[in-house]
Amino acid sequence: MRKFLIAGNWKMNLNADEGADLVADIVSVAGKQTSVNVCLCPPFTGLESAAKGVEGSNVSLGAQNFHPEPSGAYTGEISAGMLRHLYCSHVILGHSERREYFSETDAFINQKVKTSLESALKPILCVGETLEQRESGQTNEVVRKQVQGGLAEIMASQSEGLVIAYEPVWAIGTGKTATPEMAQEVHAEIRNLLSQQLSEEVANRTRILYGGSMKPENAKELLAQEDIDGGLIGGASLKASSFNAIIEAAIELAS
Ligand code: PEP
Repeated sequence: MRKFLIAGNWKMNLNADEGADLVADIVSVAGKQTSVNVCLCPPFTGLESAAKGVEGSNVSLGAQNFHPEPSGAYTGEISAGMLRHLYCSHVILGHSERREYFSETDAFINQKVKTSLESALKPILCVGETLEQRESGQTNEVVRKQVQGGLAEIMASQSEGLVIAYEPVWAIGTGKTATPEMAQEVHAEIRNLLSQQLSEEVANRTRILYGGSMKPENAKELLAQEDIDGGLIGGASLKASSFNAIIEAAIELAS
């Protein structure tokens, strides 16, 4: 019922030309198939060349951040309208690196989630606990606070296109992956939270991605879990061979 979404978060990697080469290699494998959704999120400087590369294919484009105001004196920032103009359909919000290095709060992330939904940009809202929080048994509490805070004052009727990414911070870029069972447990909890906060219908249709050292070797096992509807992939999205292998694992499971 929920189509897999495989999204690549390139972070601060690849210039526009390098990105265009990677886009071409991904589009050649994933551009025509329709059984899974694929979204590439280059840095801002790579969006224009990536937009040309995905044109006419089934690969979509996302950004890694934006500012919630529509325009104005926000030096260094980019608006939702600017991203739409570059054919972005998705935007990653609340990534743990932005929470940690740029002090983003749930309240600020919530403003961005609201603006993105109003701007027809599908938010990929990232949530997840640190190792310390997991070890002290706070995983569900942390994730609940981030989901409730990120989605505060959003009505079920406004949540079309919402995507959540569960990204345990201790698994991001570390090579450590949550076991499929550990991830499934938190994904089920997030779906439960969506049901309480929005509606059961929204909970059933909203895709919940797993992120944290997903790679070809573990993708199939993770994606096979009932409540894992795709992946948000960092390191392994920077090479066509590994990203395409993850897409192929999802296609296999979807068929
Ligand atoms: C991420 O940063 O969203 C991520 C999941 O990174 P990695 O796949 O490298 O762990």
